[in-house]
Amino acid sequence: MRLLFLFYLLFCFHTHYCQTIRVRIYDGINAKELQCVIGSGNYLLAANQPDGSTKYIALNTLAQGRFKISGSQLQFVQNGNLILQASQFELIQQNREDFINWSIPAISTKTRAYEGDFELSLRKGQICLINRIELETYLEGVVSSEGGNGHQKAYYQAQAIISRTYALSNAERHQKDGFALCDRVHCQAYLHKRSGTALIDSAVFQTSAIVLLDADNQYFPTFFHANCGGQTCAPQEVWNEQITGLHSFKDTFCIHTKQATWVKRIPIATWTSYLVENYGFPLQDSTAYALMQNFQSTDRCAFYLHPVYGIPMRDLREAFKLKSSYFDAEVIGQEIVLHGRGFGHGVGLCQEGAMNMAKQGFTYDQILRFYYSGAHLSVSP
Ligand SMILES: [Zn+2]
Ligand SMILES: [Zn+2]
Repeated sequence: MRLLFLFYLLFCFHTHYCQTIRVRIYDGINAKELQCVIGSGNYLLAANQPDGSTKYIALNTLAQGRFKISGSQLQFVQNGNLILQASQFELIQQNREDFINWSIPAISTKTRAYEGDFELSLRKGQICLINRIELETYLEGVVSSEGGNGHQKAYYQAQAIISRTYALSNAERHQKDGFALCDRVHCQAYLHKRSGTALIDSAVFQTSAIVLLDADNQYFPTFFHANCGGQTCAPQEVWNEQITGLHSFKDTFCIHTKQATWVKRIPIATWTSYLVENYGFPLQDSTAYALMQNFQSTDRCAFYLHPVYGIPMRDLREAFKLKSSYFDAEVIGQEIVLHGRGFGHGVGLCQEGAMNMAKQGFTYDQILRFYYSGAHLSVSP
């Protein structure tokens, strides 16, 4: 029986490990030209021709070139010479560790390295770069991009499990755009290939195929954010909808960390005119004005000052680009001074709290149980 289970686990691991995912790189950036340098190994550049045939050229380590737009086609140019033209290109990796350094010359010389295969096409007047990569290799890049270096393994293991759960349950999020996930925090930050840090890569490997499920054995909604400021946020206060298994609760693990508090000063005229124009705030009413003089939010609240004025905290966060929707506010002279707590939407797992729990010796399953009390660990269905 035990042997059977072992075979089952190995089977799951194998099918899971071989699963590939298509992630758009440079999502949200209008790229007209992309530079590629083969960082290591060898790639095959494939160009689909109008007659149905495919032309190939080999690109070895340090080979470089640029993809440019020409009418409705893409061109691959080396040293100013046109090498290939096609509506679509593919770059096919020859070995698993081969990678390419990408950059957008018009924006920055800073490069971003990615392993796996690539697809390039023209979409809405810009070059669309898609990375085709094994799920677990992608996750090593995500955990490194999301968490950075210098944390304990238990945090990386927890991050790997929630990022895997997120990737699998949101694989159709960008289906209409022609790929699975984007590289931004809209989905999950994927800013570079795996770091090569043994701690991060082994945290992903050791939790291979493990995901979080809810009571109905469906993927758990593993939302996460940088810092909750001492209390997580109920999903309905952010997105206007209840999400089963997620609610607001106190978290003391993150309150002494670097993003726990923030201050922002805004001219009082800017603040009040926004309130009056958008919500008809009764500025002349002495009660309303007195409330605005000194607003305290001990607990997270959905509305600024009082629900009767109908000013959602999340709207203020968006309009004034605040780090969070959790703040006190007082009028000082000609300014309103916001004393904020936390960074991000506040729903689900608080990353700085989880990092601190790991530092204090909690294991990844204890961390996940604390932030997602309604979830359980399982092998990916
Ligand atoms: Zn996205
Ligand atoms: Zn927190």
